[in-house]
Amino acid sequence: MSDIRCEVIKDLLPLYADRVCSEASSRVVEAHLAGCDGCREELDNIRGELRIPVKAEAGNDSSDGNAIKGISAAWNRSKTKAFIKGAVITALMCTVISLGYVGLFRWNVTTVSTDVIQITDVSKLVDGRVAYHVKLTDGYDLNEIRFETDENGNFYMTPYRPVIKAKPIANVGLFNMYYTFADFEKHVYQEKHGDDREITALYFGTRKDNILIWKKGMDLPAASDKVEAYFRGNE
Ligand SMILES: [Zn+2]
Repeated sequence: MSDIRCEVIKDLLPLYADRVCSEASSRVVEAHLAGCDGCREELDNIRGELRIPVKAEAGNDSSDGNAIKGISAAWNRSKTKAFIKGAVITALMCTVISLGYVGLFRWNVTTVSTDVIQITDVSKLVDGRVAYHVKLTDGYDLNEIRFETDENGNFYMTPYRPVIKAKPIANVGLFNMYYTFADFEKHVYQEKHGDDREITALYFGTRKDNILIWKKGMDLPAASDKVEAYFRGNE
């Protein structure tokens, strides 16, 4: 008679152990556990997961099968839990590591001080474009140029790097090359501020720390043959 109740309770124990059965069932299970050593032991096995039940060593044939089933169920449960835990920890660690990597080495968040920016050779190409050479003198690469503008005609070519600077892999790059200022920048400016607006000053740097490259009305020397050849070669 009590065996039938035990069967029912044992069916409920895994749910009870995982706290997913109803409150009413929980109360029934608890009331039964208070007076049944066998079911308490079964619950211990489920909770202890890999602990070998005492009965498995007792040599009783009929309970052996159950004990082995219990062990294998517990083993699977703990394997699954360990696997999920492992997978979650691995995923978190990968996220932290890759965010850290991107954050420090890839994410362009720092600007470059004008102390290390050298602008030379500002001149006018025969096609009307303004050309100028940019060199960063601290020996590190430049990863990105962002355009910043305001309504008063100011256009800033703002250089950005990640927190951890890298040495350039080649001789030429954003950190050391000729730039031009022409239709593309005008287009960017007008997209943002309206077709009737024009750029009246071009700077390299941030809004607060910059070098003036060109200003409306400025008289620029004609580009040298070398510079003309460089841009012709690039077309
Ligand atoms: Zn019982």
